[in-house]
Amino acid sequence: MKRSNLESKVPVKKGISPNNIPWIAIVGNPNSGKTAIFNRLTGSHHKVGNYPGVTVEKKTGWLRGQNIQVRDLPGSYSLNANSLDEKIVVDTVQQWRLPEHRPQAVVVVIDATNLTRNLYLTLQILEWNIPTIVVLNMMDEVRKRDIKIEVEKLQEELHAYKVIPASAKTGEGIQEIINAIRGLPYYQNGEAVKPRLFIDKEKKSILKSLTEYLKNHPQNYFPSPLTDSVRLVANDQSFEYIKQLLEPEEIKQIQNLIQQARVEFGQREISFPTLESHARYAFIDNILAKCFSEENLEQKSFSERIDAFLSHPVAGPIVLILILGFIFNSIFSWAEYPMGWIETGVSWLSVQARMLLPDGVLKNLIVDGIIAGVGNVIVFFPQIVLLIFFLALLEDSGYMARMAFILDRLMSKFGLHGKAVLPMLSGFACAIPAIMASRTIENWRDRLLTIMLIPLMSCSARLPVYILLISAFIPHQTIWGFLQLEALVLMGMYFLGFFTAIMIALFIKKFIPERRTNPFIMELPPYRKPMFSSIWWRVYNSGKLFLVNAGSIILAISIVLWFLASYPKPEASRNLTPKEKVEQSYAGQIGHLLEPVIQPLGFDWKIGVGLIASFAAREVLVSTFATIYNIEQADEDNVVPLVEALRKDRYPDGRPVFTVLVAVSLLVYFVYAAQCMATFAIIKRETNSWRWPIVMVVYMTVLAYTASLIVFQSGTLLGLG
Ligand code: GDP
Ligand code: MG
Repeated sequence: MKRSNLESKVPVKKGISPNNIPWIAIVGNPNSGKTAIFNRLTGSHHKVGNYPGVTVEKKTGWLRGQNIQVRDLPGSYSLNANSLDEKIVVDTVQQWRLPEHRPQAVVVVIDATNLTRNLYLTLQILEWNIPTIVVLNMMDEVRKRDIKIEVEKLQEELHAYKVIPASAKTGEGIQEIINAIRGLPYYQNGEAVKPRLFIDKEKKSILKSLTEYLKNHPQNYFPSPLTDSVRLVANDQSFEYIKQLLEPEEIKQIQNLIQQARVEFGQREISFPTLESHARYAFIDNILAKCFSEENLEQKSFSERIDAFLSHPVAGPIVLILILGFIFNSIFSWAEYPMGWIETGVSWLSVQARMLLPDGVLKNLIVDGIIAGVGNVIVFFPQIVLLIFFLALLEDSGYMARMAFILDRLMSKFGLHGKAVLPMLSGFACAIPAIMASRTIENWRDRLLTIMLIPLMSCSARLPVYILLISAFIPHQTIWGFLQLEALVLMGMYFLGFFTAIMIALFIKKFIPERRTNPFIMELPPYRKPMFSSIWWRVYNSGKLFLVNAGSIILAISIVLWFLASYPKPEASRNLTPKEKVEQSYAGQIGHLLEPVIQPLGFDWKIGVGLIASFAAREVLVSTFATIYNIEQADEDNVVPLVEALRKDRYPDGRPVFTVLVAVSLLVYFVYAAQCMATFAIIKRETNSWRWPIVMVVYMTVLAYTASLIVFQSGTLLGLG
């Protein structure tokens, strides 16, 4: 039948989502490039990363220029779910038994350099008898490796609607995919499906009565009766999905048939739980023999050869440390110039405002509140961008997965599940996606533990605080000829959070031991040249978010803080210095109220105000300092940079407010403290209870307070203060 005719004549009826929009599903193995293809098809910029488990939620977008919704699903190796993200896939697919939930088409994205494994899911999907477009992604790599795939033959063998060679990287095949979707055939309801597995006569005959029953069921719930009966016999999980659709009488009958088949398999000593996988791989081997050849086997081991070195038990960790050292060093040295330019710009603006605006409240608000507050945070834009750039590079090249592998060797001894490492590492950018990424962890206890530890990873919002304090109080020194002391301290802050998390895990393992059910086998993805566009969008989005935050949250808090630090105005007759005025303002009063509690940590009232304000977002500490110090120095004409202001600040008795010890105590506080509203909200959502965000705030606050107390008090005892 002609497809084009069908397209114009047949009204779109099936494949309509509940809100009446036709949709297509993107499925595939983890790390096969689904999101990269999705981004190409829809023009969106969702995160891609070179390790399994980057996408953990359904994402939707619109097919370019079409009124068709595209849904990107998490990755899955098969339709037998283990973890939460895989379960999303199975839940979605099982719903396709009902016509109103069927997509118009399924796009299966395959990593064509790894056909054997990827075809497994493909075969399972094909049997749903929904037009299926098999995208052979990564063709750029396939060509490099001299792998030959006979596309037309493959299409024939699979009985797929289309097999399209493509590359999300080069854009090859994308237009063909869009054309194929546009030319979709009408869904052939009730048409017999060709089973894509090899099951011999004997087994078929055992399954026959069950298969026939499903086939003859009046409702069309079973597009692939043979496969369904194989699965029903293999495990009870698949039955759960089907039960909901059936009458009690039918359920009973099916249960009997399953039992009969199991007994018979038992009598003939045929193992039935692995029936499907054997039958599938037999089918796949047959296809590959016909459609696939590999000439240059040497290329394949490129990643393996690098890994012999980079994942080596001794060399691996050393290289890891060197790479991290390089990154932290660069954050300091490369960002210096752009940071200087922004600083110059901000102080120029502030001088202009001071000159041009008439004296009064408005001028004070703009200069001391807005320009000082927001400007001093924006100064850290280059560092944030650099950090995100490096993290994206690590992820997309595949090195992040090696880091996880190296750390896992360490951490499995500590009772953290191997799958926890990647979410934790991505917590260095931001806790929120990291907490979502923990959905790949199957076991609830492991997942909860990971969620609770992720906020200890130093996210990018801590970076401005770290950099400010480090550049103000850590001497500018080069050690071992290449590493700056400042970079080393910065790296130390990241390690501190990380190792504390591991220690907590160890502690919990000791007291709440648990038998391990799923040993973790980490799949190391091949090294890949990162995709420029995906790196760019990551950096762009984080940079934008940072600036938007500066323009909204930070701006708002700066204004509030400016007000709190400027009022009430004392009577002019009292002749107070600006510094004394601030101390008597609302902010000063609040800070002084807190002082007894935080004095043992070495913090003065201004830091206290900063700690309260930074509950909304960590970088607010910087804007708080900036605002307060600017008001204090209202009578000075030249603008004092924040770093200088911190260094010069004195208690009334002449002692410096900030010493190296105070700075370190404050740094440590920021490593541990729970200070991000968005994180509370996401933990509430992911654990479905208020209990866990509260537990997190309590334990992190106690940890932060205790750690700073120990640092400051022992430092003072040792005479370091
Ligand atoms: P997903 O887990 O299936 O969503 O996979 P992603 O879209 O996150 O991509 C996984 C990795 O493969 C990333 O490092 C991508 O940059 C890379 N990638 C995706 N498509 C291609 C491609 O066609 N060619 C090459 N060389 N790399 C690709
Ligand atoms: Mg993805």
